[in-house]
Amino acid sequence: MHSSPTEPPRNLPVAAWYALAPEAALERIQSTPEGLSLAEARERLARYGPNVLERESQSGPWRVLFRQINNPLIWVLLGAAALAIALGKVTDGLVVLAVVVLNTLIGFVQEFRAGKAIEALSRMVPETATVLREGHKVTVPAAELVPGDVVLLCSGDKVPADMRLIAVRNLQVEEAALTGESVPVHKQLQPVAEEAALGDRSNLAFGGTLVATGTGTAVVVATGAATELGRISKLLGEAVDMQTPLTKALASIGRYLTVGILLVSVVLLGVGLLRGYEASEALLVGITLAVAAIPEGLPAIVTIALAIGVQRMAARRAVIRKLPAVETLGSTTVICSDKTGTLTRNEMTVQALWTPSGAWFVSGVGYAPEGRLHQDGVPVEGVPAAARELLRAGVLCNDAALLPGDGTWGLTGDPTEGALLVVAEKAGIRVEEARERFARMDAIPFESENQFMATLHANGEGGRHVFLKGAPEVLLRRCELSQGLSPEAVLAEVERMAEAGMRVLAVAMKELPATRDQLEMEDVAGGFCLLGLQGMIDPPREEAIAAVRACHEAGIVVKMITGDHHKTAESIGRELGLHKDGSVVTGRQLAELDDARLSEVAASTNVFARVAPEHKLRLVRALQSRHHVVAMTGDGVNDAPALKQANIGVAMGITGTAVSKEAADIVLTDDNFASIAAAVEEGRRVYDNLIKSLAFVLPTNLGLALILAFSVAFFPIQSVAGELAPLMPMLPTQLLWINLVATIALALPLAFEAKEVNVMRRSPRNPHEPVLSRFVVVRTLVAAVLMAGGALGLFLWEYRAELPRVGQEVALKEAQTMAVTTVILFQIFYMLMCRSLRGSVFKLGLFSNPAVFVGIGVLVLLQAGFIYLPFMQKVFGTAALGWGALGWSALVAAIILPVIGAEKAWRSRRERAAEEPVEPPHDMGGLGRRHVPA
Ligand code: ATP
Repeated sequence: MHSSPTEPPRNLPVAAWYALAPEAALERIQSTPEGLSLAEARERLARYGPNVLERESQSGPWRVLFRQINNPLIWVLLGAAALAIALGKVTDGLVVLAVVVLNTLIGFVQEFRAGKAIEALSRMVPETATVLREGHKVTVPAAELVPGDVVLLCSGDKVPADMRLIAVRNLQVEEAALTGESVPVHKQLQPVAEEAALGDRSNLAFGGTLVATGTGTAVVVATGAATELGRISKLLGEAVDMQTPLTKALASIGRYLTVGILLVSVVLLGVGLLRGYEASEALLVGITLAVAAIPEGLPAIVTIALAIGVQRMAARRAVIRKLPAVETLGSTTVICSDKTGTLTRNEMTVQALWTPSGAWFVSGVGYAPEGRLHQDGVPVEGVPAAARELLRAGVLCNDAALLPGDGTWGLTGDPTEGALLVVAEKAGIRVEEARERFARMDAIPFESENQFMATLHANGEGGRHVFLKGAPEVLLRRCELSQGLSPEAVLAEVERMAEAGMRVLAVAMKELPATRDQLEMEDVAGGFCLLGLQGMIDPPREEAIAAVRACHEAGIVVKMITGDHHKTAESIGRELGLHKDGSVVTGRQLAELDDARLSEVAASTNVFARVAPEHKLRLVRALQSRHHVVAMTGDGVNDAPALKQANIGVAMGITGTAVSKEAADIVLTDDNFASIAAAVEEGRRVYDNLIKSLAFVLPTNLGLALILAFSVAFFPIQSVAGELAPLMPMLPTQLLWINLVATIALALPLAFEAKEVNVMRRSPRNPHEPVLSRFVVVRTLVAAVLMAGGALGLFLWEYRAELPRVGQEVALKEAQTMAVTTVILFQIFYMLMCRSLRGSVFKLGLFSNPAVFVGIGVLVLLQAGFIYLPFMQKVFGTAALGWGALGWSALVAAIILPVIGAEKAWRSRRERAAEEPVEPPHDMGGLGRRHVPA
């Protein structure tokens, strides 16, 4: 292959781009201020490869395996196996080993898959970049950037690659990802010395850093692994932390349990010795207890339940970025949501125009071009000059674009601005034409805190026009009104539109001398002439109305926080069903409150208007001071602190800035409020299922420990095959069989359990409730005693009955096999009861979770093998059972059904009684009932 003259060198020389002037940098990398051609970009992509960082994975197979093995429970088991072998019980030791290996393998496979699933989430929120290609602004996946691309940066963006700046406007970049320094760095264009340190290369923007304020244009100089971040990224892990409050609590419970069980084992060993056991027998009993009582399968089950939750949430458009959010969602008590696009459709349509010389109503909703102006109910011919001027200014002071289609308009950019373009086209003002005639020279982009946007244009006659559009109150302060028009009169007009639920934009104009080709902030401070108002509707989303209702039923308060006018907010709030008394508090009012008063107002008000991002942070804190668990949405750069402070920060996947996404715990891929409600529902389900698994697993362990302890303490010692040995209802290997094989086969399906019927009709979970709640403890005791009693009783009964008939050895084997089978059948029945925490399984739908029947099917087959296969009989010391014995086992095991049924009925009666006095606590905004957090 020979290179063409325009081809850049195959490997870019390590150039000190920061020491070059912008033009020199462009030339060196063979690009232009208009960007690369499409063909060139494609070619460079093939040559340099995609702009992605290979990162070391946290869920690589070795790490997961290590986590599996690095577990005190496993060590205890391994110790037990070694000890058993040392004591001459080689088969027992090997079985323990085999089961440990099997268990580790199952845990490994499941956790590995879970980890992969969670990592895949980070790819669900795509990163994009705005670049110039052949002079056109296009949005491309960040992975497709190539050296030489000209990228447009604006506040809130994540810088997608390393680049040399070629234009800046007040650009500040937060480089914590690279330097750890969280104070934003001011960027500029001048070359810096070649020996400047990384932090001093102030004309470069580095991949992975965040644009805090301002805008910039830059040419890409390095992509992927060649970037500064790429060089260090091997050191950074993927940010997926598999720990949550619950897994931590369980891990600590596990540690205590292990220590406790080891102590009890020692006690049992002592009891055995006192009762005259041989030392090796007594030791074996101790080991057996440890093996039986430790819930080895639990960690894997928890991880899997969380991973399933994460996947289901993703399917319902809520992508989890931080795993603990899965749990926290379940205890959310307040959701603070943005209005535009989240609660409303973000389909803006201009409905009303007002100018100092007249007001019109625009017919034709949606983006259909049949609109006409009406005045007092009568269609007007043509477009009056004042309206034309207002509409044209709305087109010029505007970054959106229309993509013509057949009969409808496609839209890129901010829907608020899109609406201004559509209404202008409806009235016959051609957007393209206007923009060509009055070429834009400069702009101050819209920012939420400013609430306006300004642009500078050539006016076609050698002069300059500045157009300003934004919130009416903000613009009026900058306008000199003509005779006979007062600000109050204009604001009354604004209120009238806002009361109808419209978002109102004011538009104004002023002239500047022809010498000016840049806008400064002072230019927009005053001296404008008001052109008029445009009022647009943005209807609430149907599904948001339903989701708000669902949240209320679930005891969750929904608060709307909007930058819009308070009348607009009030009207939309009413349509959404948010109000209890129609009160609206504005950002300005919030700013005047001290913290104590704020916490009251924050709790009792559900609609906040003209709110700036800094108010959001205070609101979150105020609600948290009342022990609320707060979910807060946000999309802008300045929302990041509030998102971080909230218990659940929610970012918008489509319209949100990269900065807000980085700060958030979850990202909505459809920007829809309904997805938050869905995530809450899933969060509650996950937690329920974890409790179900816990309530299922713990009784088995306690039951087995009881069986063992009881027999060591009270069962006779006798001579078996000429050796003195205690009468044991189960062999160590059999206990292990139950504890690992059966328990995992049955508990795992519970992690897949469908949601409870009433999952969104009960109060949020109290986040301070201990994992081992009274419910779990009581349930564990009841079930464990029943299980141990049933198994021990049947064992003795069968042993006594068979002893005279078949002799001691066979009778013992049969009785032990029967005891194990009873426990397994008991677990099957009990697991069915555990499928619903409160209600009956039938309400849940007996077949709503197929995994349950897979688990039961597998276990029944395994158990049949355990009883009847000669090879298994040899390993586990079992004997074949007749139908009669099986029948008795099933009958005794089934006792659990009425007992748990009665317990559930008793508990739900008590809960209903406790909920009866529906005296909503003050801070609930009068909605629903729930626990008042301590
Ligand atoms: P919400 O909180 O409901 O999602 P928001 O916070 O996005 O709304 P902003 O976009 O901050 O609201 O808008 C606040 C006000 O700024 C609007 O009421 C409007 O008057 C004005 N505004 C909104 N978009 C623009 C724009 N593109 N150009 C000029 N002014 C705008």
